[in-house]
Amino acid sequence: LCELSSRDPLTGLANRREFELALASEIDRVARAGEPALMLMIDIDHFKKVNDQHGHAAGDLVLKAVAKALLECVRPMDMVARVGGEEFAIVMPNCPAAFGEAVAERVRRRVESMPVSIGLSQQIHVSVSIGGAFAPQWVRSSPALWIERADIQLYRAKAQGRNRVCLEPAAVSVVSARNRSRNSP
Ligand code: GH3
Ligand code: MG
Ligand code: MG
Repeated sequence: LCELSSRDPLTGLANRREFELALASEIDRVARAGEPALMLMIDIDHFKKVNDQHGHAAGDLVLKAVAKALLECVRPMDMVARVGGEEFAIVMPNCPAAFGEAVAERVRRRVESMPVSIGLSQQIHVSVSIGGAFAPQWVRSSPALWIERADIQLYRAKAQGRNRVCLEPAAVSVVSARNRSRNSP
């Protein structure tokens, strides 16, 4: 029962519910320990075209192949989830900025160079756009706000032409307006 409620049946990845639970516990951990945590939002480019040109079954094969590629690019401690139709997310605890950039770029390149077999002798290629944001460092935050920041970066990656990575600059010390006013003399 537990597996059913936490896994995406097509790819075997964590589902959106599981992903949001992981985000909430990461936010707690960052607030307590201060370790940087990175979330990547990953969206397949022009995926509707894959379905339109090759059929829904081929689209499903692409989703499975991308899921596998993502798992191969991360550490065991990282969570890979399918959070929407052709949208994936990775949560990386304890992830310094330079390391996060390298992983995101590795993911992008891996997907770009991976042929997906969709028939006896037919292979296609897809690409992904990736947006990322580091965990909010103020206590009063939520998975929703963190997701929103990563989504803004994903939107930028799409707008700049797709098949690219946009990360929000790592927060040196981000303090919410509320806390700032509370701490100022
Ligand atoms: P963009 O580059 O802007 O992301 O364009 P896109 O075509 O990827 O984005 P859009 O959101 O227009 O299309 C997503 C498509 O994903 C539409 C939907 O039919 C398809 N989709 C969603 N879930 C599944 C699924 O489980 N299997 C298959 N085969 N297709 C799916
Ligand atoms: Mg999408
Ligand atoms: Mg898409």
